[in-house]
Amino acid sequence: MRRSKRIVVLSHCLLNQNTVIHEEARAMGAVSSVVNWALEGGYGLVQLPCPEFTFLGEDRPPMTYEQYDNPAYRSHCRQILQPIIKQLQEYQRAGYELTGSVGIGRSPSCDPGRGVYMEEFRQLLQEAELELRHSWFLPPVEDPIFDPDRHKAF
Ligand code: SF4
Repeated sequence: MRRSKRIVVLSHCLLNQNTVIHEEARAMGAVSSVVNWALEGGYGLVQLPCPEFTFLGEDRPPMTYEQYDNPAYRSHCRQILQPIIKQLQEYQRAGYELTGSVGIGRSPSCDPGRGVYMEEFRQLLQEAELELRHSWFLPPVEDPIFDPDRHKAF
């Protein structure tokens, strides 16, 4: 079968809500509105590692942007993103379209506008001369419905 050769990068918990802080899951497992959109669009999905889960664990407390905005956490973010950057470089080299990314609205880590992890991700993309054409986010409400026309960061 012909490949789409189009790649979308997803925040980890869009496919696995088991990594979010307690009481904040927006779905039982994967977020269906994002998964359905990706299936219909024929996008290949690259799942980012969850930075908070791998830094503080499953039972971490809720924390703010300011609390995560420190050198140790930023260094952790950059470290776990390295294998992703390598994958995206290979896709770009092979002529794939890096269509975009989907982050998480109001997350201190994964908000595309003000999230520590996404800031480090953007920096690494720039350093590697990679460009994701679009940036979307899942809105911060319970049982959210992802709408790519409305939930675009840039
Ligand atoms: S850090 Fe990002 S991937 Fe992990 S649970 Fe929070 S929003 Fe999801």
